Formats: sequence, C-alpha cells, structure tokens
Amino acid sequence: MGALPSVLDPRSVIVLAGFMGMVMSVVVFFMRRAYPASIGGLREWSWAPLVAFASTVLFSARDVIPDFFTIVVANMVLFQACTLYYAGSQKFLLGRSNTRAWVAINLLMGVLLFWYSEVKPDYAMRLLVVTALVAALFFNHAALYLRHKDRVFGKQLMTGLLLLQATVAAARLVSVLAGMAGSSLMDATWLQSLYISMYSFTVLLLTIAAILMATDRMRSEFQFLATRDPLTGVLNRRALLEACQAELAAAAREGAAKARRLALMMVDVDHFKPINDRFGHQTGDAVLREVVGRMERALGDSGLLGRYGGEEFVVLLPDASPAEAAELAARLGAHAREALPPDSPLAAVGAVTVSIGVAPHRPGADIDDMLGRADEALYRAKAAGRDRVVMASAA
Ligand code: GH3
Ligand code: MG
Ligand code: MG
Repeated sequence: MGALPSVLDPRSVIVLAGFMGMVMSVVVFFMRRAYPASIGGLREWSWAPLVAFASTVLFSARDVIPDFFTIVVANMVLFQACTLYYAGSQKFLLGRSNTRAWVAINLLMGVLLFWYSEVKPDYAMRLLVVTALVAALFFNHAALYLRHKDRVFGKQLMTGLLLLQATVAAARLVSVLAGMAGSSLMDATWLQSLYISMYSFTVLLLTIAAILMATDRMRSEFQFLATRDPLTGVLNRRALLEACQAELAAAAREGAAKARRLALMMVDVDHFKPINDRFGHQTGDAVLREVVGRMERALGDSGLLGRYGGEEFVVLLPDASPAEAAELAARLGAHAREALPPDSPLAAVGAVTVSIGVAPHRPGADIDDMLGRADEALYRAKAAGRDRVVMASAA
C-alpha cells in the first residue's frame, strides 16, 4: 500500500471537509426557521456538521497542539457529531431521542484513547477502538432507517451513506487487525485516504439527505393539510372531487362492467340547524365529528368519505352494485341514528339522523351528473320525512 499522490494529502482534505461541514451547518440552521416545528431533528442536524468541524480543527492541529487534544478530544468530538446525526434521525423518525448510551460509550472511548496515547501509546489499538465504536454507531444508525424504510429519496440516500460509513469503518477495523494501519493519521495509506475523503463527502451528503427528508416530510404534511377538512379530518371538497374524478376515469378505462359498480351517496344531517341553535355551535361541531366517526366505522374501507360542505357529506363507492350501495347507505343511516351513550357530553342532543341520496353510475356519467342525481335523491329523502335512503334512477 503506497502513499497516494499529494492531491489527496489528508490534512488538506480534512480542512476542506470541515469547511464544507460548516457551510452545511449554516444552511440547515437557516432552513430550520422555514420548516414547521413538527419536523424534528433539524436542530441536531444543524449542530452535527459544526461539531464535526470542531473535530476537524482538532485533527488538523496534530503536532501543533498537544496530542491529548488532537487524539483523545478530537475523536470524542467527532463521535459526538456522529451521535448528533443519530439523535436527529431519532427525533425525525420517532419524535424523541435518547443517545445517553452512546454518550457513555464516547466517554469510555475517551478513557481508552487516553490510555493508548498518554500511558501506553499504541496507534493500532487506538484505531481499533475508534473504528469499532464508529462502525457500531453507524450500523445502529442505519438499522434505525432500515426499520423505517420507504421510497423517499432522502431516506434512501441517508441509509446508503450510513451503511457505507459503517462498512468503511468496519473495513478499517479489519485493516488494523490485519496489521496495515499505517503509523499515524497523516500517513496516507490507501484506506486512510479513502476514509478521510469519504468522511468529507459524508458530512456534506448526510446533511443534504437530511434536508431532502425534511423537505419531503414538509411536503407530505402540507399535502395532508391541503386535502383534509380541519373539523372532521375527512377529505375536503376539493380532494374529494379530485378522488371521485380519478375513480370515474379509472372505471371508464376498465370498461362498462367496472363502471356499473360505481356509486355515489350524498349524506345530509337532518335538522342540524336546530342543534346549533339549541346547544351552540361547538356542540354542533362535536355532533358533526361524531356523525363522521360513525359513518367511517360503518363504511370501513368500502368507500371514500369527504365533506362536501356544511353538514353535507359525499361517499364514493368504487366497487358496489346499486343494491350493495343501497344496503351500505342503510347501514350508514342506522349507525348515525344509534343513541349516544348517556355519559357522553352529546347525550342531551338526543338522536341524530341523516338523509341519504344514492346515485348509481350510468353510462357516460361524469361527476356532475352523479352529484346532481344524488342531490336530487337526497332532496326526495328530505321531502319524504328524512332519516331515510332514496335511490336515484339509473336511467
Ligand atoms: P335539513 O334536515 O333540511 O337538512 O335541516 P338542517 O337544519 O340540517 O339544514 P340547513 O341547511 O338549514 O342547516 C344546516 C346548518 O348547518 C346551518 C349551518 O349553520 C350549519 N353548519 C354548517 N357547517 C357547520 C359547521 O362546521 N359547524 C356547525 N356547528 N354548524 C355548521
Ligand atoms: Mg341538514
Ligand atoms: Mg344541508
């Protein structure tokens, strides 16, 4: 294993890496303000590259300041930076972090490094201790992501980087055991240089991965908010109509047999205004939430429920014959009418009923046609005395 050309002089790489880390830290620090507080981990992730930079400064001061700082403290600071990345991931994925065990391991590492530098100097032993613990930390960190896998690119990048770091640390460990450690940090053995250049890119890429993950999380949180009705949590009108349109288009593509099994219901709470008038708007809101909860339970996953407006809801049934749709509508009505438990704060309201208009699909029907016919059937249900289901004709 010969030395690499001076382009990869470890000291320059270390300084450059540290500089990049510092820039990334500033980037995350400013990004943090733009992100919702619900996204955890950004604080740890903005500190981590800065702490890594501090370790860089210490590492590159070898032979300038006492070895205690460039060996014992430098490695402990770097390990703490890795722990901070891990804490950020825990906060991001689990909502809380606990890295006390790793801080304790870091202290233990400090003691061992002190022993093998000040008391019984042994570079190979130091490298052995550091690489073993760093590999363990990175593997542990990567395992956290493997338990929370999904198709978000930032997450995949993060997982890959952590596994790569863990593998490189493990490879260094093996190289020490095989007796090819090089005699000190600034000895540019092949693996050493690889390790140091990788570290520089890792600080950069870990931060980029973190930013990608946070951005994706923010997008999905906003998307959720943009598609939900804030009072009841079901789809809002826009998302509901979009979903209905998508279902209609899909049914049309799949042919007449599939389209025939599409139906739409319009549900309206009966005499809701008097509930508001008698018990107040807040109780009215609670009743709406209760009715929605009941409808969701009655529906299971056989339909898509959304709030059309006020106390009117739409249910799209993507796979129900007219008879099945009528049956489901009757079940919804029965659930809604069930008495509230006597200890419920809503008990005083008494029975709540709904009227339902059901429009089965008919050839060539678009969303307006289905909504129009369901609404018309609902109107007839109201006129006929409420608390009932009326089917729109398919013709
Ligand atoms: P019907 O049986 O004919 O449907 O009578 P209704 O009283 O339910 O119908 P109407 O359309 O006259 O009244 C609907 C009421 O729903 C009026 C409105 O104040 C109330 N409402 C609409 N949205 C909300 C809401 O988000 N919260 C509360 N508490 N009330 C709402
Ligand atoms: Mg009503
Ligand atoms: Mg209404």
